[in-house]
Amino acid sequence: MYPRVLINKTKLKENTEIIVNKAKAKGISIFVVTKVHSADVNLAKICLDAGVSAVADSRVQNLVKLSELPCEKILLRLPMLSEVDEVIKYADISFNSELKTIEALNEAAKQQGKKHRIVVMFDLGDLREGFLPEDVDLVIPEILKNEWITIEGIGVNLTCYGGVIPTPDNLGELTKLADHIEATYKISLNIVSGGNSSSLYLLDGETIPKRINNLRVGEGIVLGREAAYGEQIPGTHDDAFVLEAQLVEYKFKNSVPKGLIGMDAFGNKPVFEDQGMIQRGIVAIGRQDVDHTNLFPVDERLKILGASSDHMILDFTQAKADYKVGDIVSFKMEYGAMLKLFTSEYVEKVIEE
Ligand SMILES: *Cc1c(COP(=O)(O)O)cnc(C)c1O
Repeated sequence: MYPRVLINKTKLKENTEIIVNKAKAKGISIFVVTKVHSADVNLAKICLDAGVSAVADSRVQNLVKLSELPCEKILLRLPMLSEVDEVIKYADISFNSELKTIEALNEAAKQQGKKHRIVVMFDLGDLREGFLPEDVDLVIPEILKNEWITIEGIGVNLTCYGGVIPTPDNLGELTKLADHIEATYKISLNIVSGGNSSSLYLLDGETIPKRINNLRVGEGIVLGREAAYGEQIPGTHDDAFVLEAQLVEYKFKNSVPKGLIGMDAFGNKPVFEDQGMIQRGIVAIGRQDVDHTNLFPVDERLKILGASSDHMILDFTQAKADYKVGDIVSFKMEYGAMLKLFTSEYVEKVIEE
């Protein structure tokens, strides 16, 4: 069935091993972040076999899918007050930045008779989640009052909203916070989590602060790419995941629409460049399934022109005679495309040995 995403098991395993081994050399454990593939349990297993220490996801529903795996489950997104019972049930550790939520988790943990561990998040400039570092001595004593909650560690998230790049300076701030918390409150922190795939580039030099002992990695594993500068990590594959879609129309047509131009299906007024007649093709996939601006045809002669809900239109002029209706067109993808492809129930996912 098409469209489908083909997943090359060997390439995914090799990507994971390369990252796990680089991190291990610096005393850093890797949590594989599974949200990009909606927590496919078979893909998570491949990563566990390749050496990641635990699985992490932003959604409780995804942790439920992973509950059979023999490893710890970590909830990355701040828990909603409406889901604290499920968080206690399905997550061993959750990331937190609100006292009110931590108190609600404490209550739920008490009711279930099950202690819960948290990673306290600090915002070092990216302006997504986290307590402000200057508030550390206001919040830690409050958190410690919750008897059913254990502070497992602290963490930071960068390059997600504000685009702030992890550096020895801002990660150094996190390690200083760790030292301060341990010395002041006489507790030991098992986890000092220094970010996501945007921190991977720091594994190459001698620059990642020593106290950082964990990273959470999604994109780096599935695409083999560090996310600070978008560089391919040496030895990894950018095509462990490939989309295949089928050609349903293949015709020689104009490059510019004919008639009065109004709005397209998404309320935008399209603009066209006149290139005369071109070889156009339609593949059966659309914006309901994928973000087409995040796809790249494996055949570099093809060019994506645009997409509506369920049709994607390509310019085949450079590759004209080599295609016909029924043929399969393959695409490499970026993070945003993969996220949507895995969420779409219309796209089959096939793991190749
Ligand atoms: C999504 C997410 C990650 C993983 O990010 P990648 O860039 O895919 O490695 C790590 N930490 C948190 C808190 C996240 O939400």
